[in-house]
Amino acid sequence: MTELLLATRSRHKLQEIREILAPVPGLRVVDLVEAGVPETAEEDGLEPYDTFEENAESKARYFHARTGLVTVADDSGLVVDALGGRPGVRSKRFAPGDATGLERDRANNRHLIDLLRGVEDDARTARYVCAVALVDGPGPARHVRGETEGRIIGTERGDGGFGYDPLFFVPELGRTFAEVAPAEKHARSHRGRAFRALAELLTAPR
Ligand code: IMP
Repeated sequence: MTELLLATRSRHKLQEIREILAPVPGLRVVDLVEAGVPETAEEDGLEPYDTFEENAESKARYFHARTGLVTVADDSGLVVDALGGRPGVRSKRFAPGDATGLERDRANNRHLIDLLRGVEDDARTARYVCAVALVDGPGPARHVRGETEGRIIGTERGDGGFGYDPLFFVPELGRTFAEVAPAEKHARSHRGRAFRALAELLTAPR
């Protein structure tokens, strides 16, 4: 049985990752609360880099150092072509202001709607990216990545998912990620793809 520490404080991410990894045999997932890792102010500074991969590795290394456990962290975000790739690695703190939780998600979505006002439908292309890093010692981290292509619509649709999901329209589903059941989102999502690739990495012979 492989025990994996899932190094995220995001309730939404944690739930999604647990659902995605649930069918994988031989894997026991432990979160930061179960591992008894108290939250510190230091954690706010763990994602200073310009790539998803570097931020994911930074988080995984930090929590591996604190626990000694095999640690997995993801860094994810929304890359919008008409905004030159923004918000990208800054997706969590996109809108100005210091709102938190659901208020921050709402502010981010309003900000995205405002910035894309007047942009034609076919120029609203975007993708979700999820980079996952696994750290189990001082050697190099192992990395996997998942992406999902979509389009940013002008008004929110649906109340499932989290974050930018009500604005992220997936053409092959004909719906936003907030309008589909969790299993449908995971089957196509950046996080689903990345964590299924991680599961393959863990079950393949080294
Ligand atoms: P992180 O915690 O630094 O990886 O920030 C990820 C941010 O990207 C979240 O706070 C959301 O704003 C956005 N994001 C990543 N994945 C998703 C998703 O599956 N749905 C909606 N928003 C997402």
